[in-house]
Amino acid sequence: MAAACSHLDHVLVTELPDAVDGCADCLEAGTRWVHLRICLECGHVGCCDSSPMRHATAHARQTRHPIVRSIEPGEDWSWCYPDQLAMVIPEIHGHTRIPPSPLGA
Ligand SMILES: [Zn+2]
Ligand SMILES: [Zn+2]
Ligand SMILES: [Zn+2]
Repeated sequence: MAAACSHLDHVLVTELPDAVDGCADCLEAGTRWVHLRICLECGHVGCCDSSPMRHATAHARQTRHPIVRSIEPGEDWSWCYPDQLAMVIPEIHGHTRIPPSPLGA
């Protein structure tokens, strides 16, 4: 039996923003990111675990918001931190325009 995520009631962002400027925390701190993830509970945009600062994971740990979704072009997967589970959530709509990674990845 496939494991199921029990945190879907934390998915409050079902319409992705049209465009973002990058990782919110990196933009503030002047650091650089590789890939972008959006928190599906509050819409916070953070950077992935391949990025030096790992802001998406830091946000999830700090706020206990469980699920992020990739906003990389062509990617539609989400990740639940407490369940360590990747999934596609069909209720999420929209495509977000993102700037190229400042690290060129
Ligand atoms: Zn879950
Ligand atoms: Zn960042
Ligand atoms: Zn959040």
